[in-house]
Amino acid sequence: MDKLVSLCQRRGFIFPSSDIYGGLSGCWDYGPIGIELKRNVKEAWWRDIVQQRDDMVGVDTSILMNSRVWEASGHIASFKDPLVECKNCHLRWKADELKENKCPSCGGALTEERMFNTMFKTFIGPVEEDAAIVYLRPETAQGMFVNFQNVVNTARKRLPFGIAQQGSAFRNEITTGNFIYRVREFELMEFEYFVKPGTQDKWFEYWLNERYEWYQKLGIKKNHLKLHRKKKEDLAHYAIAGADIEYDFPMGWGELEGIASRGDFDLTQHAKTSGKSMEYFDDETKEHYVPYVVEPSLGVGRAILAFLCDAYDEETVNDELRVVFHFHRDIAPIKVAVLPLSRKENLAAFAKDVYDTLRPCFTTQYDDTQAIGRRYRRQDELGTPYCVTIDFQSLEDNMATIRERDSMNQIRVPVAALKNTLLAKLSGEDLFVLPEGGKIWKQGNDG
Ligand code: ATP
Repeated sequence: MDKLVSLCQRRGFIFPSSDIYGGLSGCWDYGPIGIELKRNVKEAWWRDIVQQRDDMVGVDTSILMNSRVWEASGHIASFKDPLVECKNCHLRWKADELKENKCPSCGGALTEERMFNTMFKTFIGPVEEDAAIVYLRPETAQGMFVNFQNVVNTARKRLPFGIAQQGSAFRNEITTGNFIYRVREFELMEFEYFVKPGTQDKWFEYWLNERYEWYQKLGIKKNHLKLHRKKKEDLAHYAIAGADIEYDFPMGWGELEGIASRGDFDLTQHAKTSGKSMEYFDDETKEHYVPYVVEPSLGVGRAILAFLCDAYDEETVNDELRVVFHFHRDIAPIKVAVLPLSRKENLAAFAKDVYDTLRPCFTTQYDDTQAIGRRYRRQDELGTPYCVTIDFQSLEDNMATIRERDSMNQIRVPVAALKNTLLAKLSGEDLFVLPEGGKIWKQGNDG
C-alpha cells in the first residue's frame, strides 16, 4: 500500500487534501491523472448500468434534503456507531473494532460506550437552531426513494425498473484510513431496483451475479474477489437480505460493494412520514402495491483503490525495474501518448499534427522530454495502453509506431490510419491485426 500511495502522489493520481496545511484526515484530492481515472470508472458504471439498459434511468438529487427524510429512513435513530474515548489521550475509537478494553494508542483506560451519529450536521440560514438543522447525506439512496413517484410518472417505466445515481456522500467515520478505503467524504454509485413483491430473491441473486461479473469484465482478477453473504443478525435495520462483494486489498479482504434487499422498508417509511402514497399501479394484474427494492451500492474511491491495486505490477525488463499499471483500456486515465523521437523542429511539427488529430477522440498526452525509454516507463506508470512514436523515418514514409503497454510489441502504421487503428485497439482488437499498409515492427523489445 505504501508504494501505491507514494506512486499515486508522485504521478498525480491522488494527493492528501489540504496538503500544505498538514492534510485533513479522511479527505483526499484527485490530481490530473486521478480525475481521468475517476471519470472513467464512473463512466464505465453509468454506461453499463444506465445507458445500456432499458430498465434503468438516472437522476441527480440534492445533497441537502428535508430532515424528515432522515427521520423516515431511520438514519437519525440508527445511523450510529458505538464510540469510546481514551481518558488519557482523548483519542476516540469505534468500540466494536477494539480487541482489548484499553486505548490502542497509549494503553489508557476507556470511557463507557456512547452512540455517535455519523451523519454530518449543519444549519440552513443564519440561525443555528434545531429547526434549521440539515444533514449532509450519508448515502444517495434516499434521493431516489423520495423521487419514486416523479420517476414513475415521467419516465414511462414499468416494474421491474431501477433508478441510478452517482454523487457525493459524507460520513463522520470515527476511524478513517487505508488510503482512500475509508474516508469521510466520498462519491457513491448506487441504484434502487424496484421489483414486484415476491420476486425480490430472484433479483437479488441476479444483481449479485451482474455486479460480481462487472469487476472481472474491467480486468479485476477473479481470485481477488469474493462474495460474503450476510447472516440475519449482521443485516442493516432496513434489509431482509444482504451480501458484500469483497476485494483482496493490500491490508486484507474488505468490502468493495454492498448489495441489499431492502424490501419495501424505505418507500413504506416515506409514505408514513410524508402522508404521500408510494404505491405503484400494476397494469397487468390491476393491483396497487408498494414495490420491493434491491440496492447495489459502491463507493467510487473503493472501486478506484481496487482497480489501482489489481493493475499495479513490477517487472524486470532489460535488467531494469518496470512499474506498470495494467489498467483495462476503458479505465486507463490516458489512452494514448504521442512521443516524437527528437525535439527537432520538423519532427515536432509533424508530431503536433498527429497529436491534434488524436486529441478529439482520446485523452492524449504529448511528451518530448528525455530518452524514449524513459518516456515509455513514464507512460507505463500512468497505465497508458498505447504510445505513438514519431521518428525521422516518419517524415519520409508518413508512418508512425504504435507500442502496446502490456506486451511492449510495436507495429508501424500509416499516419492516416492511426486514429481508426487506435480506436479499434481501444475496443479490444489484437495489436497484430494490421490496417492496410501496416506492419509488425518489434516484438517484446522496448527499445
Ligand atoms: P463499511 O462496512 O465498510 O463501513 P458500510 O457497510 O457502512 O461499509 P454501505 O453503507 O453499504 O457501507 O455503503 C456502500 C458502499 O459505500 C460500500 O460498499 C463502500 O464501497 C462505500 N463506502 C461506505 N463507507 C465508506 C467510507 N467511509 N469511505 C469510502 N467508501 C465508503
